[in-house]
Amino acid sequence: MSSNPIRIKPTMEKTELWEQTLDSLKSTLKPSEFKSWFSRISFEGIENNTVLLSVQNSMIQSKINSDYSVLIKDKINELSGTNLRISVKVNKDLKEKAPKTEVKENKAEDKKNSEVLLNSSYTFDSFVSGENSDFAYNAALAIAKNPGSVYNPCLLYGGVGLGKTHLLQSIGNHIIQNTNLKVMYVTAENFTNEFIQSINTKSQHQFQNKYRKVSVLLMDDIQFLQGKEGSQNELFNTFNDLYETGRQIVFTCDRPIEELKSITERLKSRFQRGLNVDIQPPNYENRVAILRRKCEEKNFTVSQEVLDYIATNISSNVRALESCITKLIAYSTLLNRDINIETAREQLKQIISSNQDLSGITIDSVIRCTAAFYGITAYDIKGRSRTASIVLPRQVAIYLTRKLTDFSTTEIASGFGLKNHTTVMYNVQKVEAMIRSNENDINSVLAKISQQIKSESSAK
Ligand code: ADP
Ligand code: MG
Repeated sequence: MSSNPIRIKPTMEKTELWEQTLDSLKSTLKPSEFKSWFSRISFEGIENNTVLLSVQNSMIQSKINSDYSVLIKDKINELSGTNLRISVKVNKDLKEKAPKTEVKENKAEDKKNSEVLLNSSYTFDSFVSGENSDFAYNAALAIAKNPGSVYNPCLLYGGVGLGKTHLLQSIGNHIIQNTNLKVMYVTAENFTNEFIQSINTKSQHQFQNKYRKVSVLLMDDIQFLQGKEGSQNELFNTFNDLYETGRQIVFTCDRPIEELKSITERLKSRFQRGLNVDIQPPNYENRVAILRRKCEEKNFTVSQEVLDYIATNISSNVRALESCITKLIAYSTLLNRDINIETAREQLKQIISSNQDLSGITIDSVIRCTAAFYGITAYDIKGRSRTASIVLPRQVAIYLTRKLTDFSTTEIASGFGLKNHTTVMYNVQKVEAMIRSNENDINSVLAKISQQIKSESSAK
């Protein structure tokens, strides 16, 4: 250890880094995938620049090595600003142990009146509201205080990372804490998956009952329902049932309802009924306030200069503001160093460049130019439609991002709203195969779009 260039602090903090890594991976992987594999990993520590992990048997070991070790390594190094290796060993005694990697449990889980896990840190108190979000915040609070009477249904919409899920779950947490009402939080994606499963297992009746017996239905990310007619019908019926009996429904969406495609008119009109409120990106003062709050929550002190640097360079995504603080904390605790403006600049380079167009090409500019070329929207590219006319542009945009920028595959995955970095690689390979055969006249298409992207970025 003495020759180790990295001074690792006591176990507690290493464990924290591991937990942050898990937290962060959890949001990029399918819940079932995360549960199946990551709950079986035991974190043993960090020694000689190596993260030591153990698992029960060689089957799990080879799965982790083949599918997840690069992902884990990238994430842990991204969070800590270090260059650690990963070692996965088999430890047959692990069975006896309680899994160490259990994800933070939720206080709300034990409460009888919630059907699902809500993140207990998503509360009105922890939400920093400003001009951009006052209206949405107040509407959500009014609903939480008086579910089913004011603003029913309600739709909160706005860009990624602006606090829609936070507000939606705040409503749930507030109601659970103050009433005995049955609250159901579900992402439209899970609703769809459960619906399909209920068909496969012939348990549609149970599925319907489950959703129709709740007093408050909180459905996140309804843009996911685009093109999924069966689920839309099911939601339409659930909606009518709940609405007619005065039960509260709140939806979130990443765009205004008019911009949703392949959603039946009758469901659209249900979404638009009641109150529609948007959340805008925070302004500079609000961004500083959010950063301060995040530091306070984590008991972390950093200079005004650093906060100003972050708030100036990240303007449209609260999640990215939060990631900056998380990264600085990890760096500072792991390496036992103070954060000054230089270290902050160095450590936050990646996060900032992926959120800003100053240094040239961004993921968003690639998406925009590719979408324009094909006459579709950026939402289409970031969406999940499997239609050929959308899939090809999406593959092209992913390929061009990989070729024209320095973003890691994990960053590209998050920029495109993809599950994980392997999907990025898969799409890149698809385009590489097309290039070899010049299928879809791909070579000239790539040249034209690249030219447009480069000319846009150099015009800045
Ligand atoms: P969305 O659902 O709109 O994509 P989230 O609700 O997941 O965004 O927010 C992303 C992250 O940023 C979450 O960790 C959330 O707690 C945090 N966040 C977003 N807006 C705020 C805010 N106004 N105050 C405090 N934290 C916020
Ligand atoms: Mg969300």
